[in-house]
Amino acid sequence: MADVSGTETVATRLTAQDIEREGEGGGGRNVDAVGMPLGPWKIDGFKWFSSATDSEMSVLLARTAKGGLSAFYIPMRRRLRNKGSMDDGIYRDSTPSTELNGIRIQRLKNKLGTKSLPTAEVELKGARGWLIGTEGQGVKEISAILNITRLHTAVSSAANWARGLAVCRAYSKVRKVRGGLLQDNPAHLRWMADETVKYWASTHFAFLGVALQGALEQGWDDAVRNTGASKLIPQDKAQTADLLRLLLPVMKAQVSVAAVHGLRNCMECLGGVGYCENNEAGGLMNVAKVYRDQLVNPIWEGTVSVMAEDCVRVILDKRLGHGDVLVNVFAPWVRRVIEGVSAELKPDVDIIEGKLQGLLDMVRGAAKEGLLYNGRNILESIETIMSGLVLLYDVTTSPEAVALKIARRYIHSKSPNVTTHISKHSLENAVADDKSIFLGPSSLQPVVPSKL
Ligand SMILES: Cc1cc2nc3c(=O)[nH]c(=O)nc-3n(C[C@H](O)[C@H](O)[C@H](O)COP(=O)(O)OP(=O)(O)OC[C@H]3O[C@@H](n4cnc5c(N)ncnc54)[C@H](O)[C@@H]3O)c2cc1C
Repeated sequence: MADVSGTETVATRLTAQDIEREGEGGGGRNVDAVGMPLGPWKIDGFKWFSSATDSEMSVLLARTAKGGLSAFYIPMRRRLRNKGSMDDGIYRDSTPSTELNGIRIQRLKNKLGTKSLPTAEVELKGARGWLIGTEGQGVKEISAILNITRLHTAVSSAANWARGLAVCRAYSKVRKVRGGLLQDNPAHLRWMADETVKYWASTHFAFLGVALQGALEQGWDDAVRNTGASKLIPQDKAQTADLLRLLLPVMKAQVSVAAVHGLRNCMECLGGVGYCENNEAGGLMNVAKVYRDQLVNPIWEGTVSVMAEDCVRVILDKRLGHGDVLVNVFAPWVRRVIEGVSAELKPDVDIIEGKLQGLLDMVRGAAKEGLLYNGRNILESIETIMSGLVLLYDVTTSPEAVALKIARRYIHSKSPNVTTHISKHSLENAVADDKSIFLGPSSLQPVVPSKL
C-alpha cells in the first residue's frame, strides 16, 4: 500500500433531495449496472495508480467531512435511463445501457510488465458509492483486503518462480554443452539445486501464510485438525492472528524479492534464449515476461521498506501478543515446533535457534528509530527463521528424502561455516544430491531403454 495519509479523494454524503435530483435531472442515474441502488456518497478526486480498471467494482479510501479516511465501495458502471420501446403495442425494456459511474480513465500507465492488467490514472467526479464499516476507520476496514493482497503477492511470486524453474528443468534436459546435456553438468546442477532450495524455502514460507489465513477464516478444527499441519498451526486463534499479522509483511517483502532474483537466474539458465520474448505456444516458455511481471511484486502493495516499517510497528504494538509479540508468541511457537523435529536434525535446529536468539537480541530494548534503521535486517532474520522452521517441519511430515537435503542445505547456507573444499568421492554424492533436488528424486534412477 502506498502512503495513503495524504489522499485528496473526498467523499460527500448526499441528502435524500440530492439523490432524487441525481435520479431525475441526472438522467435516471440512480442504479448500478445490475440494477442495485447507487450509494448515498459522492466521491471526487484523482487516483494516480488504479489497477484492474476493467473490473466491475472498486474499494477505495476517501476523506470525509468528519476527518480521517473512510472505505467506500463503488460499482464501476451505472445505468442510464432505460429508454424501452413499444413493439406491437407492447412496451419492452431494451437491454439497459450503462456508463462509467463518475469515473474517467485519463490514461493507461506505460508499464515494464503486467501489461494484461490495465493500470490507469483515474479521475473521479461524482462517483456514487457506499460507505464500508465505520466512517473514519477506512484503513482498519480495508486491512482484511491488505492482508489478502500481501498473501496473494507472496504466493504469486512463488508461482512465477515455480514456472521459471519448470522451464529451466525442461531446458536442462535438452540443451547440450561441451558434448553433454546440461542435466548432467555438475556446475549447472549445483547452481540450479541451490536455486531450487531457495524456491522451496520461499514457497514453504508463503504457504505457511495460506495455512494461517485458512485457520483464521475457517477455524482450526475444520482447516487444520487431522492434517499434516496440526503441530505447526497454533490452535489458539489469537496466536494465529498475531503470527499472521507479524509474518505477512515479511513474506510479502522477502518472497517477492527472492523470486525476482530467482527468475533472473532462470533467464540466465536458458542463456541467450532466456533474454528473448519466446511467445510460441502462448508464451509458455517466456521467462523474460514472467521476470518483467515479477518485478512489480516488491513494489506494489508497499515497497520492502514499507513492509519493514510495518513489521517494526507490529513488533512494538502493545496490543499484540500480551504486549510483546516476538517474546510472547513468535519465539515460544518457533521453539514448540522445533521441539518436535527429530534428534538427527539437532545441528540444523541449533542454527535456527541461534538465529532466533539473534533476532531477540537485536530487538530487545531497542528504540523505535534503531529498529526502523535495522528494518530490512529484521525482515531477513524472520524470513530465515521461518523458512528454516517450515522446511524442518516438512522433513517430519514428508516421506521424500529430498526434503531433508533441502532443509539442510537451506539452513547451512545461512550458517557462516561454509565448506569450500570437496573431495572426488563427496563430489559424486553432491552432484547426485543436486540432481535429485533440481530434477526430482526419479532423475537418479537409471533410464530403462524402451522396447519399442
Ligand atoms: C503497476 C502498479 C499498479 C498499482 N496499482 C495500484 C492500485 O490499484 N491501487 C493503489 O492504491 N495503488 C496502486 N499502485 C501504487 C503502489 O501501491 C505504490 O506505487 C507503492 O505502494 C509504492 O508507493 P509510492 O509509489 O508512493 O512510492 P514511494 O512510497 O514514494 O516510494 C519511493 C521510495 O521511498 C521509500 N519509502 C517509502 N516509505 C518509506 C518509509 N516509511 N521508510 C523508508 N522508505 C520509504 C520506498 O521504499 C521507495 O524506495 C500501483 C503501482 C504500480 C507500480
